[in-house]
Amino acid sequence: MNSCARKAAVSKVAGLKGCAPFAGEAFKEADYAADVFTKSAMKEYLPHDTYAKLLQTIDQGQPLDPSIAGEVAHAMRRWASDRGATHYTHWFLPLTGSTAEKHDAFLEIKNGLPIQTFSGKNLIVGEPDASSFPSGGIRSTFEARGYTAWDPTSPAFIKRHGNGATLCIPTAFCAYTGEALDKKTPLLRSMQVLSQAVKHLMKCFGKKDDKVTITLGPEQEYFLIDKNFYLSRPDLLLTGRTLFGAPSPKHQQLEDHYFGTIKNRILNFMTEVEEELWKLGIPSKTRHNEVAPAQFELAPMFEELNLSCDHNMLVMEVLRQVADRNGLVCLLHEKPFAGVNGSGKHNNWSIAYGGVNLFDPGTDPHQNAIFLTMLCAVIEAVDKHADLIRAAVAGAGNDHRLGANEAPPAVISIYLGDQLADIVRQLEEGKPKRSKHASAMKIGVDTLPPLPKDATDRNRTSPFAFTGNKFEFRAPGSSASCAGPNIVLNTVVAEAVERIASTMEKEDVVGKNEPGKHTVRFHEVLQDILKKIIKEHKKVLFNGDGYKSDWLLEAEKRGLPNTAKTPDALKAFTKKENVEVFAKAGVFSEREMTSRYEIALEDYKTKIMIEGNCALEMVDTMIIPAIKSEYKESLEALKKAGDCGVACGTESLRDQAVLFGSGLDTLRRQRDKLEEAISQGKSCETISSMAALRATVDNLEKHVSDEKWPLPKYREMLFIY
Ligand code: ADP
Ligand code: MG
Repeated sequence: MNSCARKAAVSKVAGLKGCAPFAGEAFKEADYAADVFTKSAMKEYLPHDTYAKLLQTIDQGQPLDPSIAGEVAHAMRRWASDRGATHYTHWFLPLTGSTAEKHDAFLEIKNGLPIQTFSGKNLIVGEPDASSFPSGGIRSTFEARGYTAWDPTSPAFIKRHGNGATLCIPTAFCAYTGEALDKKTPLLRSMQVLSQAVKHLMKCFGKKDDKVTITLGPEQEYFLIDKNFYLSRPDLLLTGRTLFGAPSPKHQQLEDHYFGTIKNRILNFMTEVEEELWKLGIPSKTRHNEVAPAQFELAPMFEELNLSCDHNMLVMEVLRQVADRNGLVCLLHEKPFAGVNGSGKHNNWSIAYGGVNLFDPGTDPHQNAIFLTMLCAVIEAVDKHADLIRAAVAGAGNDHRLGANEAPPAVISIYLGDQLADIVRQLEEGKPKRSKHASAMKIGVDTLPPLPKDATDRNRTSPFAFTGNKFEFRAPGSSASCAGPNIVLNTVVAEAVERIASTMEKEDVVGKNEPGKHTVRFHEVLQDILKKIIKEHKKVLFNGDGYKSDWLLEAEKRGLPNTAKTPDALKAFTKKENVEVFAKAGVFSEREMTSRYEIALEDYKTKIMIEGNCALEMVDTMIIPAIKSEYKESLEALKKAGDCGVACGTESLRDQAVLFGSGLDTLRRQRDKLEEAISQGKSCETISSMAALRATVDNLEKHVSDEKWPLPKYREMLFIY
């Protein structure tokens, strides 16, 4: 892009009039989830008996009765056709981290005439072949094909585009050996394992058998920039982040963007997004400006975990598509711009039993005993498996965030808040003293003081924070699927919950209680179990500022792992004891785990190499020519001054010639080094060579004439929209 093109892009954006004002037509109650095959749609389209059977499958997680599959498929097809759908697809979450779909028309030819059909077989199982998806060695292309299987717990929905619509059926994706090739299968397995463990524990507490619901509310951060800028930046286009770019003199120093007035163009965009989500039954609730300029957030209301993960994938897709329609680009990369905040996806996670949130402290001693037990289970799990939790959020993009001073550090620790930390301390000491804000604490006797839930008690620097009635895991990257971190979280917490439940059984205190009342020994045993957990795992608790460097020293002293880079972090998936945790839980077989490790590592390396090659090309074809032109200009001016016998100005011209000339030499050396690192396939050297190259380029950007700079600048991309 030459200078004129850049300037043209700026004026094009500046001249935008914005979209039409919001007409207030959308968000009608009747339109909520209008594009989802909801229970009420099922009821309308299915015979009564079939509907009742299908409900059992959905609500109780029972396998679908094959005898009704045909009827369900037929109803689903009629419902979809009534809404303009001509095609269907099994919609799944392959290991690439995005979503996949292969469309088939509802078309058959009978007696030479077209008819619209959809069979039960096509609903339940699909054979997309899809042999090009990463399988980490589980499935070589000549082997059995992969198949997709309907997940009835996540409803089918319709995706619309300009002139048509497609019925999407959420599915799991497996090899014929049964091994998982996707993110949904292990997520469903991990949910089952956690549900069983929680049921076991609740039985110990004398609770009747009830439904366990794991809930998730993922807050989604993103950047929006004008498409004109985006198209002029090969780095954004190919890698999702800027590989070069001097900082804007003003960026986020004034903190004036966070919660600031939302610009009209953006508000129109957000409204359009919400309208789409409304029809998809995705309860988008909160929208605001984030800390960095041009950065925003969308938070949905929490939902059941599996559904929420699917919905977050759709949220990302809708954000991208609506941005595109509005001449914007939604950047979901964890760090599109250096020097300003990156984007995360706060993973608000909780567990309910019979509709009661187990992380809600409650008002009676019985509920509190359960709350403290669950809390301790999480403390044990997170400390014991901090490496796995860290590995679950590892990736090339997130490496720029974690530990980079404006996102949670790569050290996994738990924030409880002062009051709860004080209660936990009392539990450990065993001799209840006066709590900070209320009276003493003894399990089964005392109630907890009401814990604050408001934002004032939030520690934004903690990667894993208790926030009143849920845990907020802040390390996941903005582009990641929610499945990964929650698979790990569910599995490790299930292990701890199960361990506590079986210890209580071994102590022979279970089933000795009168209805609604526990024996003294039950409480003593429980208090003892929790005390031990806290003693052993309190090192993971940290209420201070996670961004301070002394925390890293302190964390090291405590023996907490701190792996800043993805290849190191991913090694957690290869450790024997970790493989066993997943194998024992039945969430990943050893082969599945190895394959995931290999895919994640390969993905990381590939991304680094793409970045390296992109940086090289930009330097060779865009940056060096711009510097060369400046260099030539100063030399020519010097020569002219000499010819005319003019001495003034030559000093500064000579300085410029030296600046640009030595810049060219440095760039030459650094690009050679980068080229070598790439040719040897060395990620680490590629990253450091790119960083060195960037420092030179960004410095030169500050000196090259604004007319000549070939790339949209930070001050333009982040502020002109
Ligand atoms: P914040 O101050 O972080 O914005 P909110 O209370 O608004 O806090 O919650 C943020 C997210 O947490 C929302 O998506 C919300 O739906 C979700 N959330 C609230 N309660 C739960 C819960 N019990 N389980 C899972 N997510 C929850
Ligand atoms: Mg939050």
